[in-house]
Amino acid sequence: MNRPVFRFAPSPNGHLHLGHALSALLNAEAAQRENGRLLLRIEDIDQQRCPPHLIQQTFKDLAWLGLIWEQPVRIQSQHMDAYQALQNRLTAMGLLYPCTCSREDIAAAARASPRDPDGQPLYPGTCKQRPPAPDRPHALRLDMAAAVKSAPRLCWQERGEGLVAAHPEAWGDLVLVRKDISVSYHIAVVNDDALQGITRVIRGRDLYHATSIHRLLQTLLDLPAPVYQHHRLIETDGRKLAKSAGDRSLASLRAEGVTPSEIRRSLGLQAAFD
Ligand code: GLU
Repeated sequence: MNRPVFRFAPSPNGHLHLGHALSALLNAEAAQRENGRLLLRIEDIDQQRCPPHLIQQTFKDLAWLGLIWEQPVRIQSQHMDAYQALQNRLTAMGLLYPCTCSREDIAAAARASPRDPDGQPLYPGTCKQRPPAPDRPHALRLDMAAAVKSAPRLCWQERGEGLVAAHPEAWGDLVLVRKDISVSYHIAVVNDDALQGITRVIRGRDLYHATSIHRLLQTLLDLPAPVYQHHRLIETDGRKLAKSAGDRSLASLRAEGVTPSEIRRSLGLQAAFD
């Protein structure tokens, strides 16, 4: 029988915190329980924000937690061409268009418009109507109406919920490729999940709605869909624990003498899984 394949896929743009520990440990636990494989992927396409020392710190923190992952680790910044090739495919399908709008343009034009699942105003389509100016710095947006037409009625398998209907249209013409990074986070995720043969994705609830985008891209690009499981987010003072909010990192907890078993217990996981 094929063994299930799990992955932990952090973006090392800051120190790992308890939310990362929960994701990593849930993946490791499930892999062990189900005789699966555990892969690690470093999602560092934003190379400005993911410097090498944070990648090294990520390896250190995960090893300290007691995680063992297969080698080699996939480092996304080493595969930018592969992601670009998929973007080119979507462009050739007529599904991406350049957008030169600034944040302020969008805010002004979209003041009264509905919001996407992350609470951001839906893009009013300004650049879709105007002739492209490819020399100006631009983002690439997905033409959602056209994309959904090619891939209607999508759903995904969510552990604990069953079949969930995907609603990519709720994102409008989202930015797939940012102005400042030449490749797309969403494309990199679906490409690598397929390439690495990932069958089970366990990740935070903050990515639940993004799964609709992932299902859409998988369908447009003929990539297989893993089974998903979105876990609770760690809250401190009622807000999502964010690296940028100065919450304590695993490294600082370790420096204060906190042990990996205490981390597991505080996350409601078994003290050890060996
Ligand atoms: N790299 C993403 C993050 O750290 C997670 C992507 C995923 O698990 O699909 O938020």
